[in-house]
Amino acid sequence: MRNVKHCGWVLVACLFVPANIGAQQSGDQPTSAPPAAVQPVSATPGIALAQPAARVPVSVDQVVDQIIEREHALIQFLKDRTPLVETYLQNLTPNNKLGSAPKEDHYFLGRLDMGDAVDRRDYLSKQASFQHVLMGGVTKLFRIQYQPMGFSWMIFADRQNFDRNHYDFHYLHREFLGEVKCLAFEVTPKKNAGTGMFKGQIWVEDQNYNIVRLNGTYWPRPKNAFYFHMDSWRLNLVPGYWIPAYIYSEEGDFSYGSRDKLAFKAQSRIWGYDVTRDSREDELTDLKVDAVKDESPVSQDLSPLEAQRAWQQQAEDNVLERLQRAGLLAPSGDVDKVLQTVVNNIEITNNIDLPRPVRARVMVTYPLETFSVGNTIVISRGLIDTLPDEASLAAILSHELAHIVLGHNLGSKFAFTDRMLFSDESTYQNFGFRHNPEEEAAADAKAVELLKNSPYAQKLASGGLYLKQLQARAPELSALLTSHLGNSFTDDKGQVRRLSALMISAPSLEEGKLDQIAALPLGGRIKLDPWQDHVEMVKAAPVSITSARDKMPFEVTPFFPRLTRLGATAAGDSAAPAGGSGTTTAQNSGTQK
Ligand SMILES: [Zn+2]
Repeated sequence: MRNVKHCGWVLVACLFVPANIGAQQSGDQPTSAPPAAVQPVSATPGIALAQPAARVPVSVDQVVDQIIEREHALIQFLKDRTPLVETYLQNLTPNNKLGSAPKEDHYFLGRLDMGDAVDRRDYLSKQASFQHVLMGGVTKLFRIQYQPMGFSWMIFADRQNFDRNHYDFHYLHREFLGEVKCLAFEVTPKKNAGTGMFKGQIWVEDQNYNIVRLNGTYWPRPKNAFYFHMDSWRLNLVPGYWIPAYIYSEEGDFSYGSRDKLAFKAQSRIWGYDVTRDSREDELTDLKVDAVKDESPVSQDLSPLEAQRAWQQQAEDNVLERLQRAGLLAPSGDVDKVLQTVVNNIEITNNIDLPRPVRARVMVTYPLETFSVGNTIVISRGLIDTLPDEASLAAILSHELAHIVLGHNLGSKFAFTDRMLFSDESTYQNFGFRHNPEEEAAADAKAVELLKNSPYAQKLASGGLYLKQLQARAPELSALLTSHLGNSFTDDKGQVRRLSALMISAPSLEEGKLDQIAALPLGGRIKLDPWQDHVEMVKAAPVSITSARDKMPFEVTPFFPRLTRLGATAAGDSAAPAGGSGTTTAQNSGTQK
C-alpha cells in the first residue's frame, strides 16, 4: 500500500534503483490513533514554560509518555514554519595517506514546509524540482532522492506514528550532552509496524523530556532502497521546545575487504524558522520613522553627486534587506564587526577614505563566495569557516575592497523596489553581483597592492597557501566552489582565478607537514542560530593535529554542538553551537608558514 501522507521527508540514497522508489518507501502500516496528548507547552513563544510539578513522571513508562507527547507537540509547533534546509554532501574515495578524501560533492538548498503536506521549494534551479535535479544530475553509482516522506524523518523520529503502538522504548542510561543532563532511550519499531520505521537511540533532556538528539536509521529497509544513517541534533531556541538544527549523515566503510560502494558524509543545516514570519511584523510594531531622519543640516539640498550616492545607497540597502529576508544573509552582528576590523586595518594603512564606510556581512550558506553590494562586502559562512587565519581572511576581503575602491559597484538598478519583488526561492535568478574579467583582474592587482601596504604584508603566504589547497581540491569540490551570486574562485577547469598572484609566492602544499594548515574543515568558525539567523564566532579551543588525516581541508565533519538550555547562564557558549567544531576542527589561531 502506498501511503504517501504517512511519509515524512527522507533523504534516501538508492543503489541502482528505478525512479519510482517512492512507492516502496512505506509498507502497510497500521493507522495510529491521533496523538491524544498533544499539548503545546506554550502556544506563544516567549512565554516561559511552566511545568507543573504534578506532571513530573515517576516511572520510565511515564517518561516515555511524556517524550511522545512532547514530540507531537513539537510537530504541531513547527507545522506552519518554513525553514531553510541546506545539505552539503561529499562522496568519498579511499586514499592511502588520508584514509578517505572527497571524490565529488553535491549541494542542495531549499525551503522546507513543515506542515502536513510536506513540501520543499528549491533555490538552486530555475524550474526543475529538487527531486528532478537529484535524479538527473548525479552519479551512476547511486542516486539520491528527497521525497515528500523524507526529510522530516530525519528531523522527527517519525512524523506520523511515534507512539507505543509502533515503537518499543528501552531506557539506557543518563548522560550529559553539553551542559544538559539527558536520558538515553533505545527506540525500536514493533514487529510488523511497517517499513521505514525509526530505529536507534534518542536523548531527551531531563526536565520536560523533549528529544534533543536522534541517532540511527530507518528499518526495515524496502527492497532496493537504502536509508542513510543520521545523527540529528536539536537546540533549545524557544521556551519549551528543542528545535531541529543539524543532521549529520555518513555511509561507507573503507576497512580492508569492505564491499561498500556508497561512501559519503553530509551535513544538513536547518535555519530561518522565524525569519520571514516575524521580522517584518516586529518592525511594524517598532516603527520609528525618527530613527532614520535625515541628519544633514537644514536646507541643504543634494548635489548631483550626492544624489547619485544616495541612489546607490538605496540600491545597496534594498538588496541587503532582501537577501536577509530570503534567509541567505545573517542579520548584522558581531561577526560583521570582526570582518570590518580586518577591512579597516587595510583601509587605514592605505589611506583609503571613502564617502561611505565599508561594511561586511555574512551569507550563511556553504559555497565559497564573496561579492559586494555597493559598499558592503558579503562573504559566505563556508568561506569564513575554511580560512586558516586572519591574514588569509584579509586577502579574501581585499579583493572586494578593491572593487569598492575602484568604483566597480555602481549598479544601482536595485534602487527600484519592484526589483525586490520575487519569491525567496528565485533569489539566485534575480540577483547577481558578478564582475567582468577586466574588473576582476583590476581588483586582483589593486588587492595585492593594498595587502602589501597592510599589517598583513608579511603574512600573505597563508592566503596563497589557501588558494593552492583550493586548487588542489577544486576538481572534487565543484559544488562548494560554485558561487551563486558572486564571481567564482576557480574557472571551469578548477584553476584558481582569484588572487592567483598570491599563490606564486606561497610555499608549496605539503600534505604530510603537520604544522602546515592550508584550509580548515567546514564548520570551524561560524555558528548560526537557526531560529533568528544570527551568526557568531565558534569558541573552540585549538586542537593539535596528529596526522595528515586530521587536516580535512574543506571537508564535512560530524556535528557535536554543545547543548545548553535556553536562558541558562552557560559558562561558554550560547544556545546555538556550531557543527564540527568540538571534536575535529583544528582551529588555527597562529599563523602558518
Ligand atoms: Zn571580484
